[in-house]
Amino acid sequence: MFGLTGKQTRQEIAAHELGHAVVAMELGLKPKGVWMLTAPEGEPHGGTAVEASGVEGAAVLAAGAIAGEHWLRTRGLDRHVSRADMTYVAQGDEERIARLGLTPAQEEEARDQAARLLDRAWSRVEAGIDPLVEREHLGQRDLARLGRSGGGLRRAVGFITGR
Ligand SMILES: [Zn+2]
Repeated sequence: MFGLTGKQTRQEIAAHELGHAVVAMELGLKPKGVWMLTAPEGEPHGGTAVEASGVEGAAVLAAGAIAGEHWLRTRGLDRHVSRADMTYVAQGDEERIARLGLTPAQEEEARDQAARLLDRAWSRVEAGIDPLVEREHLGQRDLARLGRSGGGLRRAVGFITGR
């Protein structure tokens, strides 16, 4: 990301992906894993594999950008990153939220829920950042070890979040 070092960019991506995964787990879902790919050229990419739908799905999707921005703020780096860059990295997530067909009120509820859950479980996001940057993949068990493992099965429409 423009304005950050390569390492900071990877950490921010890790925080973003772990935001998706941790909010999913807080909702009792079971993300299958998170990963990062650092191509020799160009920006690193990340992804989170999780199944969720409706308001929960929107909360999981919204959590990435919220977590990434929160990580930047905690490191005093948010001033170095433009609003346009932040919007760009979350574009795929926002498009998926739009496709869920929620009402504006439901969408707002989902974003509030994501922020609340991240606030409560932020230490889990932090705990996962360095391992994810180092190993470029955390599986379901690795994620569960960051905190409580999930609850009941949910009916789901599958999606894979991407940046
Ligand atoms: Zn995302």
